Amino acid sequence: MRNAKIVCTLGPASSDRSTVRNLAEAGMTVARINASHGTREDRADLIDTVRRVDEATSQPLAVMLDLQGPEIRTAPTDEPVHLETGSTVRFVPGDEVTADAVGISVSLSNADPGDRILLDDGRIETVVDHVEGEDVVVRVENGGDLASRKGVNVPGVELGLDTVTEKDREDLRLAAGERPGQDATVDDLERTVDFVAASFVRDADDVLAVNKVLEDLGADVPIVAKIERRGAVENLGEIIDAAYGVMVARGDLGVECPMEDVPMIQKRIIRNCQAEGVPVITATEMLDSMVHAPRPTRAEASDVANAVLDGTDAVMLSGETAVGDHPVRVVEAMDRIVREVESSGEYDETLEQRVPTADDTRTDALARSARYLARDIGASAIVAASESGYTALKVAKFRPPVPVVATTPNHRVRRELALSWGVNAQYSDLGDSVETIIDDGVQAALDAGVAESGDTVVVLSGMMSELDTQDATNMLKVHVAAETIATGRSVVRGQTVGPVERTATGDLTGIPEGTILVLDPDFDGEFTGDATRLAGIVDARPGMTGYPAMIARELEIPMISGAPLGARVGDGDVVTLNAERGVVYDGDVRSRERR
Ligand code: PEP
Repeated sequence: MRNAKIVCTLGPASSDRSTVRNLAEAGMTVARINASHGTREDRADLIDTVRRVDEATSQPLAVMLDLQGPEIRTAPTDEPVHLETGSTVRFVPGDEVTADAVGISVSLSNADPGDRILLDDGRIETVVDHVEGEDVVVRVENGGDLASRKGVNVPGVELGLDTVTEKDREDLRLAAGERPGQDATVDDLERTVDFVAASFVRDADDVLAVNKVLEDLGADVPIVAKIERRGAVENLGEIIDAAYGVMVARGDLGVECPMEDVPMIQKRIIRNCQAEGVPVITATEMLDSMVHAPRPTRAEASDVANAVLDGTDAVMLSGETAVGDHPVRVVEAMDRIVREVESSGEYDETLEQRVPTADDTRTDALARSARYLARDIGASAIVAASESGYTALKVAKFRPPVPVVATTPNHRVRRELALSWGVNAQYSDLGDSVETIIDDGVQAALDAGVAESGDTVVVLSGMMSELDTQDATNMLKVHVAAETIATGRSVVRGQTVGPVERTATGDLTGIPEGTILVLDPDFDGEFTGDATRLAGIVDARPGMTGYPAMIARELEIPMISGAPLGARVGDGDVVTLNAERGVVYDGDVRSRERR
């Protein structure tokens, strides 16, 4: 298992179902669809494709629709146009693109002389000379070739654009599951996306504005706020409070703010998000050279490693997977880098040094305790039973040194947790008692391969609304994982642990002291040899009164009947016979204290 998750942007290089599936197999857990590109129909198809892959794979795959937001772009042009350093250019409304007049999608007339206007991620720099009505006349400080529909940034200038544009509203309809001109109810596919990424937000109100549109559409979709403006950096605290998650959108951030500020802003955002238990994605240019190259640069590998060491929940790929030459290979490279970091001593040290304090909620305190408890007793995993995902997010906040397995009865929550650090989310109906919540959670940890029968796990359960019992509300328990290998009826009560020995004839000669005798369905005799060496009996045949039952009663050793033990248990394998519950568990599942 990897702690840091991988978000991949889908695009022309990765939009077919088999590539999406291969990306998921290589480690993608969240598929990002960038609404700045393609048609709405393309986006609808892509959302459905991701959903179909999620349905066919065991690990959850979430889909995030990234809104274009109030983004400004230059007009389309068939051929790049050269803007000469030192020349004067006029930004005008409309579709013109020449060496001295460039069409812009919105009015820049709020700009003042001296303001900088940057094109194409800052590759072309201009400074405002004067404004004439809707036209803005600039001096080109750093020229270059301007291609079609390039991004425009005006750092620090409030252009008075709507946070949610008309185009965004249409995309939010898609996000809410609407499919224009199509009957979206033809199958059971869940069409509402798992996350909406809100672009160019400035403050909490902008996040809430996106939320409001979704709410009006009847959709409850978590918002990931993209931090890509100086204003957003200044209002980080309130944005973290208002959003479900945050993205360090380094592309625009590095244009809106001085490029040299980006590394420390990134670290600060990750730290603040972790302190609040809010998932954070580190995005843009992480393995950019791999758009074409088969290997990343050393600097890129270090960039991914540093984000992981900083504690990011997820790392994101953009053009690398959307338009790159080998999208799956990029994810494999990222996966390898993350795994290497996470297996290092330095990473373990960092986790220990950066455990946030608990806030004043009970779940926070319990999640923090679970982290230290798991570490101190050498538990294999923390199991978080979580209806809404809240408990699992809280456990992830404290970055425990063991895997976190979250069980939830909600498929949407299961996918949402695909963005969270260290969480392996599994579906479970959680049952209707504390016992079934624990058993299901432990089984999920066994199935996920993060615990073996006999290992200790820490179980934390959240607010179980359907249960009235106090026990189920915010419960923290140390539990020994037990994999059931047979169930039957208790003949003589008690519990014992020992190696099994099968017999077809009843000959007990030479069996070791403390053996648990396994009687196959066709056994039909009596024992010969020393039966006092037996510690217990598991009879495949039903019945409470036969010969073996009589011996078990006489010797006062636990026995169950009607419990055929599968062929995978061989002579000498250790099992735990719990004849109180009528169960045989794989391995020794007594708690450590009792050993
Ligand atoms: C970014 O600017 O880094 C980013 C992720 O946003 P977009 O790709 O929408 O420009």
